[in-house]
Amino acid sequence: MIEKLRNIVEKFNQEISKEYYLQGAGLKDDIKFDEIYKKYPEIKDKENINILKQAISKNEDNPEESRKLTLFLENIYNEVISSELSSLSEELLLKEASGKIEINGKDAYFRSSMIEMINQEDRNIRESIRKKRNEFIDDNLNPIHVKIHNQEKELIEKLEYKNLIDMFQSLSGINLYTLNDSMQNFLKMSEDMYVDILSYYAKNKLNLKISELKKHDLLYILRGKEFDKFFPQQDLLPEMSKFVSKMGIDISAGNNIKFDLDIREKKSPRAFCSPVKIPSEVYLVIYPRGGENDYTSFLHELGHALHFANINNDLGFEYKWYGDNSVTEGYAMSLDHLTMNPIWMEKILGVNFKESKDYYIHRNFFELMMLRRYAGKLDYEIKLAEADSLKGMDEVYSEVLSDASKVHYSGTNYLEDVDGYFYVARYLRAWMFQANLHKCLRNKFNEDWFANPNAGKFLTDLWGLGQKFSAEELLEMNNCPSLSVNPVFDDINNALSN
Ligand SMILES: [Zn+2]
Repeated sequence: MIEKLRNIVEKFNQEISKEYYLQGAGLKDDIKFDEIYKKYPEIKDKENINILKQAISKNEDNPEESRKLTLFLENIYNEVISSELSSLSEELLLKEASGKIEINGKDAYFRSSMIEMINQEDRNIRESIRKKRNEFIDDNLNPIHVKIHNQEKELIEKLEYKNLIDMFQSLSGINLYTLNDSMQNFLKMSEDMYVDILSYYAKNKLNLKISELKKHDLLYILRGKEFDKFFPQQDLLPEMSKFVSKMGIDISAGNNIKFDLDIREKKSPRAFCSPVKIPSEVYLVIYPRGGENDYTSFLHELGHALHFANINNDLGFEYKWYGDNSVTEGYAMSLDHLTMNPIWMEKILGVNFKESKDYYIHRNFFELMMLRRYAGKLDYEIKLAEADSLKGMDEVYSEVLSDASKVHYSGTNYLEDVDGYFYVARYLRAWMFQANLHKCLRNKFNEDWFANPNAGKFLTDLWGLGQKFSAEELLEMNNCPSLSVNPVFDDINNALSN
């Protein structure tokens, strides 16, 4: 019974992943999640929850099997909820993808208006695009978001959990309140440092005080076009291939990874990695535009791709597909953070540290802003899940996010800016995992571990374990410092005070 269910869910995951890849790569227009759900009616059968619960209690004295089944159960819960909400999610996606707003008398796609807004030099035009975007979200997207939020809440209660926090904590074993405490402490610790540097950029780039800043100003400050010269566009794949080969790593993991760097009109502007068959068919898709962001995003997705493509084939279905996503996000971040590492930049891209100090300040400012934003997001998402109704939650969102990032956030995105099933917690834990793992790699293999085949072997062995172990367990098994935000703070503090 369980084996049969594993086979069905694995085939379903493969089809969803392939659909996601084809649509995101711009090779296919529509996205037919509903059709795939229809092909696999077993997926949303609530009875699966009982079957798995019974199997877990039968396997109490078999920790290996019950560990797998618990991961399976967590994802079956999420499948049951997603399938109930799939028509609304499709409606939302369609509205978002086809929606248009008017900019300077011309129609523009809602999705691309974001890039237009960030690139706009004139602050008044930026502000008018922001207003048009918010009107579109309020009129077209928020009504669907509200329906999704309320239905999800109802479903969670029907499944006998108090709320999403209760469900997430019981199934994942991650305590959101402890994580939130340490992140709120991080906000306090980093406040002065952040305000100093934000004031500096506001004054120098926009001649504004920080009390006048809006979110689009922050995005504008963070563009960093002046550093594009360090990152030659045409060399991305060969350079990164040369880099990982210094660790003895094959960038395609024996052709398991297929790279798609072509320019295609309908390709998603966001890079992504799609594991269709693990480990043998993994896609890495990026729309290169030139500049630092290409390298950082490529390295992030490469971290995911190398992880999936190096997973031990006979590890078992649950450890390949499920588990603590802080781990795969942590591997992704351990590669993307290399563009913040002066030794890597010098050795791999030939960028001299002394001649590029502005770049590191910019990069660390970006890092600190993102961490503070995510700390705010976690606090808000906990409040959202605790709330009985949505009344006033847009104001809570605006308050919490504005306070964390010190720029004004409007309330409009209070449902749009929420990651499903507390993914925000996985990201924050990945940040910690990454900083701890880097510390560990430096201790074991020196500062230039990224050019050392022994470090390559160490990483490949870790990747082979899929997500069998949580971020905490992996650090403990390898005698690394335990999961905490301190090394994240130290890294930024060192970089910004030098
Ligand atoms: Zn990622």
